[in-house]
Amino acid sequence: MTSRLRKCIACTRKSYTASKYCTYHHDAFLNLKQKYETWVYAYGQISWQEYLNKLIMMNEVGVWVKDVIVVESKKF
Ligand SMILES: [Zn+2]
Repeated sequence: MTSRLRKCIACTRKSYTASKYCTYHHDAFLNLKQKYETWVYAYGQISWQEYLNKLIMMNEVGVWVKDVIVVESKKF
């Protein structure tokens, strides 16, 4: 166990898991990754970034997920 305090990279909450995200954003991130696999399966070729770009435009995507998309997009 590490005593190093981590902060969620998408908000100011503390991150208690090994994740770079807090519980809410971590859940959203897992969701995002799961959905990506479904999309790859359905569309064949879609890059992670293309997927994120499409998803952020969708109204049915929750705010937590959108926060994660913004953070993930910045990495590129
Ligand atoms: Zn967070």
